Amino acid sequence: MASTHPVYLLFIGPPGAGKGTQAAMLEKELGLKQVSSGDLFRENLKNQTELGVLAKSYMDRGELVPDALTIRMVQDRMQRPDCARGAILDGFPRTLQQASALDAMLAAQGSQISLAPVLTVDDDELIARLTGRRVCRNCGATYHVQFNPPRSEGVCDACGGELYQRSDDSPETVHNRLYVYYKQTSPLIGYYYAHGLTTFIDGSQAIEVVRQALLDAIQPALAVQ
Ligand code: ADP
Ligand code: ADP
Ligand code: ZN
Repeated sequence: MASTHPVYLLFIGPPGAGKGTQAAMLEKELGLKQVSSGDLFRENLKNQTELGVLAKSYMDRGELVPDALTIRMVQDRMQRPDCARGAILDGFPRTLQQASALDAMLAAQGSQISLAPVLTVDDDELIARLTGRRVCRNCGATYHVQFNPPRSEGVCDACGGELYQRSDDSPETVHNRLYVYYKQTSPLIGYYYAHGLTTFIDGSQAIEVVRQALLDAIQPALAVQ
C-alpha cells in the first residue's frame, strides 16, 4: 500500500453479515488495524471495567450502548499508535450521531474515510449465522459450527482457546438486534451514499468470495489516497 495518509475503511452491515470475519482477514492483508466496538465492549466486560458492566445491560437486550460512551471508547482506541496508518472500523459507527462524531474527529486530524463497504445478507441467513456463531474466549476469533467450523470442535485454531456462544446470539436477542440495525444503523447507508463512499457487496457469498470482492473494491480506493 503506497498511501502515506491514514486510511479508514468502515464496514456497514447487519449483525452476522460477516464484518468481523472479513475485517480480521483484511487487517493482515492491508496492514490496517481492525477496530471493533463490540470487541472493545466485550474486552471491557472481561476486565470488569465500569464501562463493560454498563454496556452489558444494553448488549444483553440487543440495544445500542449510548452514543457518548461508545464514541469516547472508539476515539480513544483510534488514537493508539497501532492505528497510525488507519483502521478498519467494524461495527462503528452505528448511529448518525456516531457518524458525525467520527467525521469531526477525522476532519480535525486532516483525514477522512476512504470507503464504506456495505455487506448485504438476507435475514434468514443472518439468523442462521448468528445462532451458530462461536467466538474464542481468548483471542476473539470467530467461527461458525457449520459454515466455518474450527479444526477441532470447541477449540480455537489460532490460539487453542475455548470457543463459546455469545449470550446475545440467542434467537430472542437476535431478532431485536436486526430490528435495531434496520431502524438505527441502516440510515447510515444513505449518509455515506450521499458522500459517494458506499460500495455494495453481496455478503451471502462464501467467505473467500466476499474477501476477494472487498479487496477488489478497496484497492482502487487506496490507490487514490
Ligand atoms: P458480524 O461481525 O457482521 O456480526 P461475523 O463476521 O461475526 O459477523 O459473522 C457472523 C457468523 O457468520 C460467524 O459465525 C461467521 O463464522 C459466519 N460467517 C461470516 N461470513 C460468512 C459467509 N460469507 N458465509 C457463511 N458464514 C459466514
Ligand atoms: P454484531 O456485529 O453481531 O451486531 P457487535 O459485536 O458488533 O455484534 O456488537 C454487539 C453489541 O455491542 C451490540 O448489540 C451493541 O449492544 C453493542 N455495540 C457494538 N458497537 C456499538 C456501537 N457502535 N454503538 C452502540 N452499541 C454498540
Ligand atoms: Zn483464539
